[in-house]
Amino acid sequence: MPEAMVAARESNVANGTAQQVDVAVVGAGFAGLYLLHRLRKAGLTAVGLEEAGDVGGTWYWNRYPGARCDIQTIDYSYTFDPELETAWTWSEKYATQPEILRYLGFVADRYDLRRDIRFKTKVTEARWDEATARWQLTTSNGAPVSARHYIMATGCLSAPKPPEIDGVKDFKGEVYFTGRWPHDGVNLAGKRVAVIGTGSSAIQSIPLIAEQAAHLTVFQRTPNFALPAHNGPAPSDRMSLLQGDRTAYREQARQSMAGVPYPQQTVVSWQLSDAERRERFERAWAAGDLVHILTQLWADQAVDVDGNKIVQDLIREKIRAAVSDPETAAALMPDDHPFGAKRPCLETNYYATFNRPNVTLVNLRQEPIKAITAGGITTARRNIDVDVIVFATGFDAMTGAIRAVHPITGRGGKSLTDVWAQGPQSYLGLTVEGFPNFFMITGPGSPSVLSNMAVSIEQHVDWVVDRLAALRDAGFTAIEPTETAQAGWNRHMADCSMVTLHRLANTWYTGANVPGKVQGLMPYTGGVGPYRSICDEVVSRGMLGFKLTGPDGAAQCNDGEVVKLQPDVRLVLNLLASLNLPPIESMGAIGARAFVEEFNKGRPAGRPIGDIVDGTLPGPDGPLPYRVYKPSTSGPHPVVVYFHGGGWVLGDEQSDEPFCRDMVRRTGMMFVSVGYRHAPEHRFPAAAEDGYAAARWIAEHATELGGKPGPVLVAGWSAGGNIAAVTCQLARDRGGPDIAGQLLVCPVTDCTFDRPSYNDNATGYFLTRSLMYWFWDLYCSPADRTDPRVSPLRGKVAGLPPAYVVTCEFDPLRDEGIAYAEAMAAAGVPVEQLRARGHFHSSFAMVDVIITGAPGRVQMAQALRRFAGLPPEVSRDDEHSHVSPGHRIAAAAS
Ligand code: NAP
Repeated sequence: MPEAMVAARESNVANGTAQQVDVAVVGAGFAGLYLLHRLRKAGLTAVGLEEAGDVGGTWYWNRYPGARCDIQTIDYSYTFDPELETAWTWSEKYATQPEILRYLGFVADRYDLRRDIRFKTKVTEARWDEATARWQLTTSNGAPVSARHYIMATGCLSAPKPPEIDGVKDFKGEVYFTGRWPHDGVNLAGKRVAVIGTGSSAIQSIPLIAEQAAHLTVFQRTPNFALPAHNGPAPSDRMSLLQGDRTAYREQARQSMAGVPYPQQTVVSWQLSDAERRERFERAWAAGDLVHILTQLWADQAVDVDGNKIVQDLIREKIRAAVSDPETAAALMPDDHPFGAKRPCLETNYYATFNRPNVTLVNLRQEPIKAITAGGITTARRNIDVDVIVFATGFDAMTGAIRAVHPITGRGGKSLTDVWAQGPQSYLGLTVEGFPNFFMITGPGSPSVLSNMAVSIEQHVDWVVDRLAALRDAGFTAIEPTETAQAGWNRHMADCSMVTLHRLANTWYTGANVPGKVQGLMPYTGGVGPYRSICDEVVSRGMLGFKLTGPDGAAQCNDGEVVKLQPDVRLVLNLLASLNLPPIESMGAIGARAFVEEFNKGRPAGRPIGDIVDGTLPGPDGPLPYRVYKPSTSGPHPVVVYFHGGGWVLGDEQSDEPFCRDMVRRTGMMFVSVGYRHAPEHRFPAAAEDGYAAARWIAEHATELGGKPGPVLVAGWSAGGNIAAVTCQLARDRGGPDIAGQLLVCPVTDCTFDRPSYNDNATGYFLTRSLMYWFWDLYCSPADRTDPRVSPLRGKVAGLPPAYVVTCEFDPLRDEGIAYAEAMAAAGVPVEQLRARGHFHSSFAMVDVIITGAPGRVQMAQALRRFAGLPPEVSRDDEHSHVSPGHRIAAAAS
């Protein structure tokens, strides 16, 4: 640092004149250091304000015994400078806290970053000044700061949680917090030590504390899943991947879901045998890698309670084997949350430590702590005398790091604490409406703690610094998200949270660990790669959702929501777009059928049900194939006649198998899927007449098929929805069969293409307008198209069976489905509608791919059960004779 600059800064500090900078950064950990480096390179002046006496952030404070990272260190490193990557070599697979701290010091020295950091300086207040469009900061130590931009690089776990236990002040012994461990170490030799908490910090420190202490008592409220770290040298397979192609390795990490380069699993648990699952699990267990075991077992482990429960059971088996005393082992086995929904831990000798004679576990679920006394800890059952209490009780996570640190006042005197009173609101987890030029690195609303922080930090820092430089270059002085954009992001966050199982656990991810804190999932669960692409999309769409303002009234605002699709729909559509497939309508009918068949081979087949039986039934012009899907419970069951989708051209009685299986499981009914004739070989009205004839025959032969005699139900998706609707009209007009209800999923109901949904969703959502033109042309001559047997909306709709009509927001067929539902309702038919926000035409048929379609199918199943006179509640007991904890979690989920 030039002498003159040092002198100027010191004199500012001394005389109280505000230090003028482009950017003020709070924190000098991983994020703050990289920010200072990037800001400097972008030609922006910056000051880092750091409460600690040196760089390091979380690694400065968390010096408890055993503190290490638990993402492999080769992944938990900066990647912005290839020379830095080769200049530093980690000594272990999981580096210790001192080594990580040395690394951060090395980085600070290498880029000469300390010269821009004011250590031992807390920001005591931050206020946006409208007149100057700058942030005015007061500090605990030295000059105030005036900055154009204010960036919180405060980390997610930097505000330790108070103990919330009565009597802490009365305790006469030593008290330590893992998150604020003394720098000169603690001597625990010969002492009676209590550790309160069994999260990551406790699980890392307990084995080492037990080695020193005369006696260790561990106070556990909630057992946590912990996996062996198998620490040692960095594994050779990962090292050779990295060294083989460093650029590709790092890029794969950036595009991955968790920020570590592992592929997406596609095989779901029920496609694997017990032996195959165990083999995968043992491999993961031996790998000693959190991200590996969290992502590489099977595709449904993190999104489905059944797929998750298999992992839980396998881990519980390991705990049982590791701990000698069965009662202690049982107490250490987590049973109240899905694996991964609460942050699991890596351990070294953790479970084995409970076999030591000097270690006792106190299960607070059975004997809660009543108070801390002068001499120890009193539970509901006993007094335990101790000399030392170690609080490993965690943090006021994510929001605590920002909100609790100091008052932050934005535009119009709005305080961030008030704005976040009901939980954190943000756009992209980066910015907050009403707080111009305010940024958070890995803030709530971004992948942050659900990712490799090193990767997420670099992505955020790059994005923010690039924006600040672009803002400056365009002559703007302020940037702020719009209300619309922020509300849209919060909706997207909520949509994402429905995909994974995180919402099913009480954790610091949801704020549940802090009494009185508003609860809601704070990190973004949509994945690192998808998140990065969304941030990039905001830029490529002209800073979508941001207001930019500058001198002399200069302003730009491209308002809108960046993601309106459900997160998994977005992923599927992006994947399809990346395949650059030719339009289906260009393949010809034969080619298109072959394509669909091939495409369907790659999807999960659907979960096991009872019997599946094939047969043929007499159609109007020859036999028609059918496939019966039966529940696993004993029948007879009500019968649903099902018509597959495919534009009257594609598909067959097996092509909607995952949907049929799923609905059989959810309804407890029997589905008979009909193979009606297809165009262009058999044009209108072949499909309609086949559908009607099949429904009639199935109703007449319900008993032979194993179903319940009496009224049938009809259901169909897409063109199959059209056939189902037409079947109901024909049944009414031709004297039966008796139909108790109809489920129409994204049905074709009319022959016009001028409703708004045809224009809004003409391309980009798989079912295109031009594909629909093609289907219509192959099936039906223009002269026939107003016939109600293909355009049921043109027919009489009174007197039809009760209907449940499903439409999807991003589907060309949306508005005709709604029109049909409204026409039936106007004619007195009992109608319920599900208008599925953020979904596309195939959402509900893509079972186990579009996870966000599951709640919709629950509602469809409930409707069918109502139509059949069954209680609407779909009990999983219909499929399983006992209720396991996993299923209780599932019931809570739905
Ligand atoms: P934590 O995971 O929140 O664990 C806190 C523990 O204290 C929990 O077992 C909690 O029980 C218990 N507890 C809290 N208040 C209590 C009270 N009043 N009475 C009794 N028990 C109480 O905190 P942490 O272990 O410090 O870890 C926080 C996060 O930091 C981790 O999840 C991880 O992301 C990160 N971390 C990472 C590493 C690493 O990379 N190696 C190491 C340490 C921490 P309940 O579960 O019942 O609330």
